Formats: sequence, structure tokens, C-alpha cells
Amino acid sequence: MAQRSNFRRQPEQRTFAGECSVHGAVDLSEVEQFDCSMAVRPCKQCQFHGLRVSPQGSEEHSQALANLQAESVNSALVGSGITPRFADSTFATYRATTPAMTQALETCQGYSENFGEHFQAGRNLLLCGNVGNGKTHLASGIVQHVIRQHRAVAVITTAAEIIRVFKRSMARDSGYTEGDVIDELSGFDLLVIDEVGAQAGTAYELGVLHEVIDKRYQLLKPTVLVSNLPAKPTTDVDGKPLPSLEQYIGARALDRLRENGALLVGFTWESARGRK
Ligand SMILES: [Zn+2]
Repeated sequence: MAQRSNFRRQPEQRTFAGECSVHGAVDLSEVEQFDCSMAVRPCKQCQFHGLRVSPQGSEEHSQALANLQAESVNSALVGSGITPRFADSTFATYRATTPAMTQALETCQGYSENFGEHFQAGRNLLLCGNVGNGKTHLASGIVQHVIRQHRAVAVITTAAEIIRVFKRSMARDSGYTEGDVIDELSGFDLLVIDEVGAQAGTAYELGVLHEVIDKRYQLLKPTVLVSNLPAKPTTDVDGKPLPSLEQYIGARALDRLRENGALLVGFTWESARGRK
């Protein structure tokens, strides 16, 4: 089935008539880079020679291998769904100004560094709580880390985008079915769902999110869920219940997400207090 959802877009590329110092006039191509620049690919014939003809361990062979790896990491980053705004959002650029933010940074960094283990266990991570604490920054940092260091297929998207893609599948000419979207979203090594609970969810929208969460749960695939809502119900000063992630996606879905030692980063004082 052709992929039409665009969760993982391919880098833009352009072919042009160029010049190689070894092979003379050749077709060259330039490829969109994660930093939005365009970079010219090495000459195809040079690359072939480096990979297939030059002896292993030679400088030419190593260079050709490095080109191949750089291209694959770049494709994964371009296709990760990290927007240009968050391209520089790594752990190194996260400014932790409170103990809770430092704790959040450490948890996200630890999750990424031990991703191999968490991947095996299908262990999730929940980033919950107040707006403006850099949750999307940290989530983007996780995606970059697991792509660069673990060569994982990792994608960040929003709950709203997932719902839009599902709705589009119902159009007669969409070319894909709901099942295709589920298969695609459950195929990624890591899926980050941002902005969960940002808008009132209809039964259909919640059903879609449940299905994605459940399928990844069944397949033991780790999911990072990001929400401005606190994980567990809280009350305001008058004892009135405030919206929570549990209330939004339902206790059963939250239980699935938290199973098997899921990590929770709460940006609110309440959840920080509950942390061990
Ligand atoms: Zn060449």
C-alpha cells in the first residue's frame, strides 16, 4: 500500500547536470538536510567504487560508508516529524531552571540512553503537566537521540494530526484505509504523540487514539505521550475536580500506557511529590 499519510516524509531532492573530478560530466543530486539546507550527494560512480571496489578499511571505502550512514540518519531526521522550530531542541539546549525541570531532563535523557532496553520491554514515557515547561523540546530531543544513537525509526506527531489522517482515510479517493494508518503508526520503533488532550475529544477521536495506543501496546512498541493535563485527577482550591489525562483518555488506556514500569514526568508540583 502506498504511503499517503505523510507521517514520515521523504527529503526533497533535485537532480542536476554536474561535474565529478574523476568521472567528468555526471548527473548529481542534492538532498534536503535536517537543518533545511541542501547538500550535494557524492557522485554515484565514486560512491559505488568506494563501497564495492575499494578494499575494506581503505579511506575511500570508509568515506563511502560514512556517506551512506549520514544519508540514512538525515532521512530519518527529516522524516521524524520534528518541525524546523524544534530542530535545535536537544537535551544540550534544554534550559532547566527548576528542580522539576532538571528531573524531567534527566528522565528523558535516561530514557533515550537506555532506549535499547526500553524498546525491548515496550516501556512508555509520559510527559504530563503545565504548559510552557518544554515538553515538546524534550520529546524532540528524545526522537533525535534515538535516531542518531540507536538508528531507530522514531516519529513525533500530534494527536490532532493522527486524527486528521484517520479522518482523511474515510474519503473515497484517499488511497489508504484506517487499517493502513494503524499499521504505519504501530510500525515505528518509537512514536511520540504530542498535545494529547489539547482539545475536547469526541468519541471517534478518543477511539482513534485508543486504537493506536492499544495496537502499540499489543506489539510491545514504546510510545511517548505528551499532554498538558496532569496524569491523575486533581482538584482546585475549592475541591472541584480538574481535567486529567486519566479522565481524558480513560483509566483503561492510561493503565496500558503505564504498565510495565512506564516512566512518568510530571511537571506539576502534585505529580513531582508523588514521584519516587
Ligand atoms: Zn565520480
